[in-house]
Amino acid sequence: MEPTLAIEALDLQADAPRLDNLLARLRHLRAPPATPGRQRPLAPRQARVAAAQGKVYLVGAGPGDPELLTLRAARLLQSADVIVYDQLVGHGVLELARPGTRKVFVGKQAGRHSLPQDAINALLVTLAGDGSLVVRLKGGDPFIFGRGGEEVECLVAAGIAYEIVPGITAASGMAAYAGIPLTHRDHAQSCVFVTGHLKDGSANLDWPALARPHQTVVIYMGVGALGEICRELVAHGMPANLPAALVRKATLPEQRTVAGTLATLPELAIERAVSAPALIVIGEVVGLHQRFDWFEKRAQALSAVAG
Ligand code: SAH
Repeated sequence: MEPTLAIEALDLQADAPRLDNLLARLRHLRAPPATPGRQRPLAPRQARVAAAQGKVYLVGAGPGDPELLTLRAARLLQSADVIVYDQLVGHGVLELARPGTRKVFVGKQAGRHSLPQDAINALLVTLAGDGSLVVRLKGGDPFIFGRGGEEVECLVAAGIAYEIVPGITAASGMAAYAGIPLTHRDHAQSCVFVTGHLKDGSANLDWPALARPHQTVVIYMGVGALGEICRELVAHGMPANLPAALVRKATLPEQRTVAGTLATLPELAIERAVSAPALIVIGEVVGLHQRFDWFEKRAQALSAVAG
């Protein structure tokens, strides 16, 4: 059966039962596995969806500063019928949409959970199935800790046309705006991005691999586990005086960097009440922040002049 959902006045809380119902129907829509060397004809439902010409663009919104958006993302925001976005997408980015474009927020709001991933997937399929040009706007890059893969999986299964547009990931934005080169011939020959938030709630990471020398480690979603992370890295051989920093709201006017060492950063984070969204960055390159910090110094200079 065709999933139908009146999308004009979509209220995600009020429409939850309809989304559940839609989800149940979508579970029957898994695409058959491709047979190598032979083109399968479209299943009737897939053919109907293709005929409606809806499409989902999975678009990276960058780390916050709207000027860091790609030209392609800016152009798609101008053509979208609907923008489905979450909390890491800055307001400045959303303002680039045409006036009157429908915007559906699917992130966390004060006191409320974000829409479950299944429901977001179902929403994208429904909107595109009804013929809309949907921009699914995700903070940073859609394929770096953004669950973009899960959304594409669902679009493929439902036979929905899609494209993926990369964005500047938070780590790159942070590196540039906090003046912390991720690699440097004198300090770091490799750089790893890891998540500090695992499904089971622990930060059970590959500590020996992370503790290697001459490597920069950038941890997404790690603020809550900062103490544990610093302890484990020292226990696995990193020097306690290795430079480490937290950078909150990188690339936005509110950006704040708290820099210390593996030994001092957890305490500093509590003192300065650093909360998400923030990145933890660890390695010798963090020692360059003080000299290379053009962005926060400029903001301080401007506010001193204004004050
Ligand atoms: N897809 C995103 C990451 C999503 S995971 C990307 O490529 O950037 C969400 C985490 O990203 C946050 O908890 C935080 O650790 C980090 N993050 C995103 N934007 C950030 C910003 N402007 N400043 C600091 N950290 C940020």
